[in-house]
Amino acid sequence: MSELATDYLEGALPWHARLRARLHLFYCHACRHYVDQMRRTVRFLAHGPHKPPPPEVEQGVLDAIAADAGKPVAGSHDDKT
Ligand SMILES: [Zn+2]
Repeated sequence: MSELATDYLEGALPWHARLRARLHLFYCHACRHYVDQMRRTVRFLAHGPHKPPPPEVEQGVLDAIAADAGKPVAGSHDDKT
């Protein structure tokens, strides 16, 4: 059903398959949930990805990575205990 969901969302299915998909979604919770997520993702992608994150977010992530990398590792050569 998951490949179908993409076609379903893109409207690429022939009417009978579309009908079947719709019917399936009517009684199948898992797929309905999946399609719902897909729809949300598609919408998100349509708006989101070409815009870079705000600089403070990017800097926050970079800081977090740097802080993590700078942490002394237990048992490393300059551990003076
Ligand atoms: Zn299903």
